[in-house]
Amino acid sequence: MSIWVIPEVEIVSAEVFGTKARFPVHRIYCVGRNYADHAREMGMSEQDIAKQREGTPTFFMKPASALSQTGAAVRYPSATNSLHFEAELVVALRSGGKDISVESALSHVYGYAAGNDLTRRDLQAACKKAGLPWDIAKVFEQAAVLAPIAPMPGQAPPVGEIALWVNDVRRQHATLAQMVWPVAEIISLLSGFFTLRAGDLIYTGTPAGVDALLPGDQVRIAVERLPELHHSVVD
Ligand code: MN
Repeated sequence: MSIWVIPEVEIVSAEVFGTKARFPVHRIYCVGRNYADHAREMGMSEQDIAKQREGTPTFFMKPASALSQTGAAVRYPSATNSLHFEAELVVALRSGGKDISVESALSHVYGYAAGNDLTRRDLQAACKKAGLPWDIAKVFEQAAVLAPIAPMPGQAPPVGEIALWVNDVRRQHATLAQMVWPVAEIISLLSGFFTLRAGDLIYTGTPAGVDALLPGDQVRIAVERLPELHHSVVD
């Protein structure tokens, strides 16, 4: 039992479907441009899209403190006029390691959830243009919204559809098979850069159709076989 010089920092945790027990969150990793149609709408050339798998996925992170849960009223963040939604499949890890093989990657999975990788798109565009890191675009309070995690230990990810609605109008729709790097490959490649740990979440990228949200909007994200994510945006 430590004695702290300032008030103790809270452990961030996520809701798990079907139990009151919670999933403690260590890190939040994210994959960029993991669907070709989204890479295209972000301005990637056809030539680069065709060669994507020869390179490494775009990885970035959000702090655990950016987590918000289904039902949240997400406050419109500061310093942006373009808060974008990104519907994503999220992987929750029960164990980790480094240099994990593709073959053993799924043994580290605790479960899967629907998530929204909220993004200050105008800041991201400015960062890209200036050759600067994306942190201020991707990191802010409540920027990683998460549905309850479906416990599926050691299991393969859901197959089928991912979709997002704003005010009951469908804005994103794709199949998870369209991912450039599937879940097992993401875990394996990510573990070449970071020692993964129990409690890590991985947002696996968004399909095409990303666009801006406004205060008053209601967002719903559905991934086949997983609990739905609902949240609002408020001033
Ligand atoms: Mn994303």
